[in-house]
Amino acid sequence: MALLNFDAKKCNLCGFCIKKCPFDALSMLASGIDVNEKCRMCGVCVRTCPEGAIRFEQKAGEVDKSKWNDILVFCEVEKGEAHKVVFELIGEAKRLAKVKGYNVNVVIVGEEGLEKIANELLEYGVSKVYIYEHKAFKGFRADNYADALADCISSTKPSVVLIGATAIGRSIAPRLSTRFHTGLTADCTKLEMRENSDLVQIRPAFGGNIMAQILISNSRPQFATVRYKVMENAKKVEKPFGEIIKCEVSEDLVKSRIFVEKIEEISKEKTIEEEDVLVVCGRGVKNKSELDLIYELANLLGGQVAFTRPMVEAGFGTSDKQIGLSGRTVKPKLMITIGVSGAIQFSACIKGSECVVAINSDKNAPIFKNANYCVVEDFNNVIPKLIERIKRGGEA
Ligand SMILES: Cc1cc2nc3c(=O)[nH]c(=O)nc-3n(C[C@H](O)[C@H](O)[C@H](O)COP(=O)(O)OP(=O)(O)OC[C@H]3O[C@@H](n4cnc5c(N)ncnc54)[C@H](O)[C@@H]3O)c2cc1C
Ligand code: SF4
Ligand code: SF4
Repeated sequence: MALLNFDAKKCNLCGFCIKKCPFDALSMLASGIDVNEKCRMCGVCVRTCPEGAIRFEQKAGEVDKSKWNDILVFCEVEKGEAHKVVFELIGEAKRLAKVKGYNVNVVIVGEEGLEKIANELLEYGVSKVYIYEHKAFKGFRADNYADALADCISSTKPSVVLIGATAIGRSIAPRLSTRFHTGLTADCTKLEMRENSDLVQIRPAFGGNIMAQILISNSRPQFATVRYKVMENAKKVEKPFGEIIKCEVSEDLVKSRIFVEKIEEISKEKTIEEEDVLVVCGRGVKNKSELDLIYELANLLGGQVAFTRPMVEAGFGTSDKQIGLSGRTVKPKLMITIGVSGAIQFSACIKGSECVVAINSDKNAPIFKNANYCVVEDFNNVIPKLIERIKRGGEA
């Protein structure tokens, strides 16, 4: 492991850098100074070595890919349960693993109750579930969670690590990829495995105008984050065969520089990703009274109102309700779009919806290409009638 280069001609093995490293990342071996995965590239050792013997190496050396095998999925724990994205990551990992005959393993970090979660995950046909359980993992601390995951990665050497693109996943993934001096592709929408174990990480780029294929061909592991609701859920297997491995958690591993003052739940409302019915407002909705109409329809249908980006920018909705490449990916059972044109940056993130009803006064609006039912009409002529029919209890 090293993007730090130690010049053997200059180094007199004084050990000063080992004492100075704030992360215990250096040790003295017979061959010289060794750097482990705890290194954060902070540069303290580079600046303080009295002999000027340490420097940052810009180019990582090539790894022996055959030594990195299997796919590791990070299981995020939310309110004592596995986050739903984990089941999608396992489903995708199992599909990819077939190409190389890899195993799919999972790692869970948390305070308590992890064995119950691990047993549930085994039902989806994963080979090993590694558990890092300790009271110091209460709440989320990016530093000691990353330490636990780095420990698991160092000992199991997975070729691919899949992480949910949640707030926690987005915090951990870059820390890990930096530590292992390897690549990370965020928010992948599609993944493919090549015969040589390179993972093709596909995601929209340049505002969604192209789908970029990204490879991490010279280093391992290959880190990718995937948003919730993008991949298919894993299916349960008839005979689970995997095992649970309780990993040793030393006091050193759980050390954290983050102090959690209090944990406060900010919202109990379903997110738009979890919602079955979404009524989506686009720029065709122009004022508050029209917006009130949309809210009335969403309430009657037992769903939520979501927005396109211009509507969020104009202050009609909040960013957590925005659908699209710079917002959320959704898969509701029913979506009604109202005054939405269907730009690629929006439409790319509604593809998993079961039924889309689009209302737009322009018959050429691109949204109709992604709709099951197309209503070419001013929505003001449609929505009040629809509301009336639902209130009457008729078939809307
Ligand atoms: C890098 C990048 C990222 C982006 N990310 C996102 C994103 O995450 N989400 C997103 O939504 N956009 C995103 N966009 C913007 C995107 O390109 C579009 O501009 C946006 O989706 C258009 O929003 P809209 O459909 O509400 O508005 P418009 O394109 O203006 O469409 C309004 C539609 O309403 C119809 N209409 C008007 N009046 C009525 C009426 N009375 N009845 C019925 N129909 C009516 C019109 O015919 C029109 O089709 C992004 C753009 C870029 C460059
Ligand atoms: S401080 Fe410099 S000289 Fe001393 S052991 Fe570390 S690299 Fe070598
Ligand atoms: S760069 Fe920082 S973390 Fe890495 S070995 Fe040097 S002092 Fe330690």
